This record gives sequence, structure tokens and C-alpha cells, in this order.
Amino acid sequence: MVDWIADYLENIRDRRVFPDVKPGYLRRLVPDSAPFEPEPWEDIFADVERVVMPGASSPACTELEAVVMDWLGKMIGLPDDFLHSASGSKGGGVIQTTASEATFVALLAGRTEAIRRYQKLCPDLEDAEVNSRLVAYCSDQAHSSVEKAGLIGLVKMRYIESDENLSLRGDKLRQAIAKDRENGLVPFYLCATLGTTGACSFDNLKELGPICREERLWLHVDAAYAGTAFICPEFRGWLAGVEYVDSIAFNPSKWMMVHFDCTAMWVRNSGALHRTFNVDPLYLQHENSGLAIDYMHWQIPLSKRFRALKLWFVIRNFGVKGLQKHIREGVRLAKEFEHMVRSDKRFIVAAQRHLGLVVFRLAGEQEGGVCDGDAATEILLKRLNAGGKMHAVPASLRGRYVIRFTVTSQRTTIEDIKEDWDLIRRTATVVLNEMEE
Ligand code: PLP
Repeated sequence: MVDWIADYLENIRDRRVFPDVKPGYLRRLVPDSAPFEPEPWEDIFADVERVVMPGASSPACTELEAVVMDWLGKMIGLPDDFLHSASGSKGGGVIQTTASEATFVALLAGRTEAIRRYQKLCPDLEDAEVNSRLVAYCSDQAHSSVEKAGLIGLVKMRYIESDENLSLRGDKLRQAIAKDRENGLVPFYLCATLGTTGACSFDNLKELGPICREERLWLHVDAAYAGTAFICPEFRGWLAGVEYVDSIAFNPSKWMMVHFDCTAMWVRNSGALHRTFNVDPLYLQHENSGLAIDYMHWQIPLSKRFRALKLWFVIRNFGVKGLQKHIREGVRLAKEFEHMVRSDKRFIVAAQRHLGLVVFRLAGEQEGGVCDGDAATEILLKRLNAGGKMHAVPASLRGRYVIRFTVTSQRTTIEDIKEDWDLIRRTATVVLNEMEE
């Protein structure tokens, strides 16, 4: 790689300054779908010259992104409407910087559509007047980035109570919408979460989807962590109802071994994004305007990094098979850790384990423990993190302090898990003894 860069710089004057390719050139040079088997690095690297360099940074950056997002969309089982290449498709994928940005972009698109619809009924209303009546929804388990999207978009955000499994259900959404409509407000957006931050719980898309369709709410799915797991067919049950979704995003940078930053986002119909972000100054026009994808209409920034490259490299280097193996191993190790926690009566698994996330805490007095469980768990976590041997992040679940333990690295082994568990147990003994004194 270093030699290649040196040669490139030395011989730069032999290359064209402007690419001589037609729109769609790159799609003809690469397969339609991701390889199932891993590919050797030599083959992947050779394709930088064969596939990427003829298109320089642009259009290669755009075209590779569209291809790789189609690969990834197929890998997680998205319907064809979300693929650039499907016949008659108005949708496709785009790489955003973060899940927060994807949630915000989706909210802006939903807002554009709601304002347009409302102004057809009441043409005298200004955009800002409609905006002031808009209401968005998410569950009480949604990530803080959803709250942030509402703050920046200047729309009211309702946090709907999740059920006993920490899942957002249809009946609660219906009630919230009805109440807001009664008060003259305009419900326009729901951010459902597949794999919440606190406990990896899943909102019920099957129930929420038809309601959003009926009530004309933009349905965005934030699957930041759990989205990677959908590469394995056995974990796709949670995607039931995806046929109602307008946009969905996940972070390959969380569990797919792609370096941060990288958020894969798909939309069913890019029209709303174009209407939201469309600007057309002379200096951005080019001979292929309108013929090729212009990602500047799909995102907030104009320029973009060539993030598709790292996604392309990782998918090819592991193959679908290797990625599935990695996910299944993460889940297996989390299950092992869960068994360890359950085997020690001083601990409680605080929510049902899904995928690779185990949330646990020390038992309180009412649960057979010896002291205030929340206070003890907090001290335990602080001691563990201060020790420098392991790091975990807390969450509050229904007001209880819990520790989140997750496996996302390809290098984590069962020995690491045993070592961590041993440390957790020993530290817990010290903390509980101190608290009893
Ligand atoms: N959504 C969920 C469910 C998350 O767990 C996280 C981060 O942990 C985010 C969104 C925020 O992700 P990002 O840092 O990509 O904005």
C-alpha cells in the first residue's frame, strides 16, 4: 500500500486530472452482491487500481457507495425498494456520518413532507407555523440522539412508555397520536428503535408500521447496534414490518468491524430527501446532473469522505460468511457471560438478553441482596472502570442502575470473558463487604 502511494505521487502527471468515465461505469466492474466467501487482500487491493482509479475520487466515491450500500442492504434482508439497483426503485442507501445524523436527516425529510401536505390543506400557513404544530414520537428507551433531532428540528418530541419488555407497542402510539390530534397538533414522525442502547430491546415494527402508514407518519428505524446482526437470517425476526418503514439506519462501526465513522442509511423514496436538501448553484452543476446519484441531496454536507472504501474492504475481506461467524460468536460469548452472571445469586440479569448485550446489577435487599442494589452497582462499576482492566457503561432501566456488558470485537475470546467475570465477582465481594460494615 505504501509503495503504491509512493508510485502514485511520483507518476501523478501520467494520470488524467479529470475522469473519462460514463455514469454507471463502476457497477459494470463489480458483482451485484457481496461475496459469501472471504476474498484475499491481494485481490481486493488490485481492485483499487482496476475499479476505483479510473473514476478518481468522483464519481468513484458515489458509485462505489451506491453499489456497497446495495450489497449491504441485501445482506441484512431489506426489501428491494431500498436498493438503488432494483427495477423501478426510488430508494437506495447512503452512508451518513453517525446514527444521530441519520435520525435527524430522516426527521427533516418527514418534516418536509408533512409541511407540504399540510400547506395543501391550508395554503396560507407559513412553514414555521406548520412546524410549530408538528409532533414526533419515540419510545422512552430511545437514544438521546432522537431527543437531539427534535431539539434541532424545533419539533415536539413525545416519549411513549414502552411495555414490560421495553418495547414500543402500537396501542400506546395510537393513544398518543389521537391525543395530539385532538389538541390540533400534527403528528409526523416516529423513530422506532431496533436494539435500544440500554438493554437491546426491540420496538414492535409490525404493530407500529401500519399505524404510521395510516396516520402518515414518517417511520424511521434506528438499529445502530443491532443492525449488523441482521446479516444472520436467524436474527431478522425483529425486522418484521420493515415493509412499512420509510428509512432505516445502522452503524457498521459498532459491530461490523468497520472503523468509525460509518452509518449505513436507506430510504424507500429519496424524493423527500431531495426536496429537503435540494440546492442548485451553477458551481455544483455538472454534465451528468440528474443522470447520476448526487449524494449532496441525501445528506447535510456537500462533500463526503470515501467511506464506501472501508465498507467494501471489510465486506470482501470477511465475506458474508465471516461476518456471520463474527456475529454468532459475539452472541455466543454474551450467552456464556449471561450464564456466569445467573450462576451467582448476588447478581441479577436486569433485562432479557438480546444478541451480544448483557445488562446486570447487584441484587437489592428486597431481592435477597445485602444492601441498596443501585448504590452498590454504581460503586462496583466505578471500581471496575477505575481498575483499568475492563470498561463498561451504565444505563438506567426503569430507574434502576444497570451495567451493560457487550462483546463486539473479533479478538474477544472466552478467556477474556472469564477473566472479566472473575474481576467483577471479586470486586463485588469487596464492595458488598464494605457496604455491610
Ligand atoms: N442510537 C442508538 C440505539 C445507539 O445505541 C447509539 C449509540 O450508542 C446512537 C443512536 C448514537 O450513535 P452515533 O454515535 O452514531 O450518533
